[in-house]
Amino acid sequence: ATPTALLVGTGRGAQLGILIKGPEVLENTRRVDTVVLDKTGTVTTGRMSLVGLAVAPGEDEEEALRLAGALEHASEHPIARAVAEAAAERTGPLPAPEGFENVPGRGVQGVVEGHAVLVGRERLLADWALELPEELAAAKAAAEEAGRTAVAVAWDGRARAVLEVADAVKETSAEAIRRLRDLGLTPILLTGDNAAVARAVAAEAGIDPELVIAEVLPEEKVDAVRRLQAEGRTVAMVGDGVNDAAALATADLGLAMGTGTDAAIEAGDLTLVRGDLRAAADAIRLSRRTLRTIQ
Ligand code: ADP
Ligand code: MG
Repeated sequence: ATPTALLVGTGRGAQLGILIKGPEVLENTRRVDTVVLDKTGTVTTGRMSLVGLAVAPGEDEEEALRLAGALEHASEHPIARAVAEAAAERTGPLPAPEGFENVPGRGVQGVVEGHAVLVGRERLLADWALELPEELAAAKAAAEEAGRTAVAVAWDGRARAVLEVADAVKETSAEAIRRLRDLGLTPILLTGDNAAVARAVAAEAGIDPELVIAEVLPEEKVDAVRRLQAEGRTVAMVGDGVNDAAALATADLGLAMGTGTDAAIEAGDLTLVRGDLRAAADAIRLSRRTLRTIQ
């Protein structure tokens, strides 16, 4: 491959809203046969909003929202932003948490106004030997059945509320996935979210429900990529989050959403500047065409 032709390829990429780390990246792009897509922020907008709130008998909705919102205010996770926004809107200025801690792929924990508060998935509750009471487990199941994400709120040693947030599939995702398929690639959805939510998003985006890998912890995203590589696939990974960075680096080709975190952008080989998944298909088409011109 002549360096000049490769650089012409990267110049065309810039016009399409694709930033390429180095010309050698195009070589890997050409061989890709599988595209692993992160869900939140990649296939979906990542802008979630609070759409439901259930409390255990005797608990106060406003208190649940205020304690959860105060803690989530310190987190940048899309779920956290939705919760903090709704809490501020409904309950006014939020108190500052103490000892705030982000538990990647699980949730957040800290102290708000003297209460030890947890907000996150059931796995986080389990870390503290807490369980959802029956009423809340039912509310959570119903929300997930409907394709929403439900997170638990616990304070002072008891799970007391479930918050429901929803996130929309990007308008461009279905077309992007169709184009990837037209290029002969297999799209796979990979997410830390639960299987019901993941399947609902996959159905809307046009991904085979059999090709959904859900409920993976951030460090397990790398393992999922490695397993696909062990099957003999050449894997591209598209992601936006801090929790995608290792998988982006491990994949044969890492594509970072330009709208995502710096960690993802640094780990990726390519950046889709506008955060438009259709540019992933453009990138693969471009690399194939560029390399055909060279050979
Ligand atoms: P994704 O792979 O979809 O971007 P993450 O790995 O970031 O998801 O998170 C996985 C799950 O952990 C979320 O669906 C949620 O249940 C829980 N979680 C993570 N961070 C938070 C948070 N700040 N607040 C509440 N729940 C959280
Ligand atoms: Mg994400």
